[in-house]
Amino acid sequence: MSEVDQLCPNCGLCCNGVLFADVKLRKGDDAKRLAELGLPLEKKGRQQAFAQPGGCFDGKLCRIYAERPVRCRTFECGLLKRVQAGELGADAALGTIVQAKRQVEKVCELLRGTGSDDERLALSHRYGRAMSEPVDLSGGETSAGLPGKLMTTYRDLMQTLQRDFLK
Ligand code: SF4
Ligand code: SF4
Repeated sequence: MSEVDQLCPNCGLCCNGVLFADVKLRKGDDAKRLAELGLPLEKKGRQQAFAQPGGCFDGKLCRIYAERPVRCRTFECGLLKRVQAGELGADAALGTIVQAKRQVEKVCELLRGTGSDDERLALSHRYGRAMSEPVDLSGGETSAGLPGKLMTTYRDLMQTLQRDFLK
């Protein structure tokens, strides 16, 4: 079994809007074909892009894997690279993925608690939106403390992602 087969179906963090908010098309991509496959392409500056999490991700795997964009074909996170290089065992990497996903779930729980969550958006956009809302003091101390808790939990997650996946 390849390292990709061992890790990626258990992870999905580069497809589900946690590591990235969008994917920009690159030279070699057929925008017309990708749009036919269901990617909601839009202009981002001079480039075409689609927002994550798009309909291309089924929660575990890419629905259009054989025809996925160039950026998706060429991206390998730091964790995968370290396993491929023999610097880290697959079991240890799977443990890191489980931990990171737990942190994501904690952030999502807090986002749901803010009442301004939209799971169709990338995590960074959901977080930005929640933090820009006025603090609701009607729920007492618990809801008043929510933004601070969300901020520290999100910061911890970003540190994990930077350290384990983006380096
Ligand atoms: S973040 Fe890394 S391990 Fe996770 S799905 Fe993407 S490439 Fe695979
Ligand atoms: S097109 Fe496939 S590989 Fe690319 S972000 Fe979407 S699910 Fe992931």
